Amino acid sequence: MIMKIRHISPALCMMCRYRACYQELPLCKYCLAKFQSILTEKCRVCNKSPGECECSGEPSHRFMFFYGGYSSRQLMYFIKNNVDDEAMRFIAELAVDATGLKMSSYDGVAYVPRLPRRARRYGYDQAMEFAKALSHIYGIPVIHALKRVGGREQKLLSASERRKNIVGRYKLRLDRDMTVRYKKILLVDDIYTTGATMKECKRILLDNVADAVVPFTFAKTNFAKK
Ligand SMILES: [Zn+2]
Ligand SMILES: [Zn+2]
Repeated sequence: MIMKIRHISPALCMMCRYRACYQELPLCKYCLAKFQSILTEKCRVCNKSPGECECSGEPSHRFMFFYGGYSSRQLMYFIKNNVDDEAMRFIAELAVDATGLKMSSYDGVAYVPRLPRRARRYGYDQAMEFAKALSHIYGIPVIHALKRVGGREQKLLSASERRKNIVGRYKLRLDRDMTVRYKKILLVDDIYTTGATMKECKRILLDNVADAVVPFTFAKTNFAKK
């Protein structure tokens, strides 16, 4: 399934952009091994794999890998800064395969938007690109329902500051088709940390856009065991 995405003959590995690709994959042998080791990393709290860990407190939340170790941070850096459409589709499809999501049960995909000035600085919004990739592969619409309206970047804040910072920071976009109500949608983001952002966005979507909202991220922060 993954193999079919890349139609042109790949030249250089999408992650290191240095070594030649391995077989039909957009990755070199070295980065493929690294990728596989990232996917098998376990939760530092419950010692379960990404598919089984329920530490996020959001039972329906699905994610592909734990964010913490060096390789996982490298991969996330790549996702945030470096990725082209094809590489994003490869990672998005891998995330669906790895988490066992039944894509046919969703009728749309929404995303947690970046701050506009931040998206401008980096040239793109990785959560929106993730949503677009899923839309492209599985034929479901991207729902541009949310916008971010100021506030500081979450990663600089403590957990309690994050919760305070988040309320009122996301708003419903009014320039979308207001007549559509979806049955069950995915809400995608890159990393799930405290879940404050995801919960706030999910609440807005449940109130206005969809009957069911399932959070889906590439990664979940792997917190140290307390
Ligand atoms: Zn490589
Ligand atoms: Zn866990």
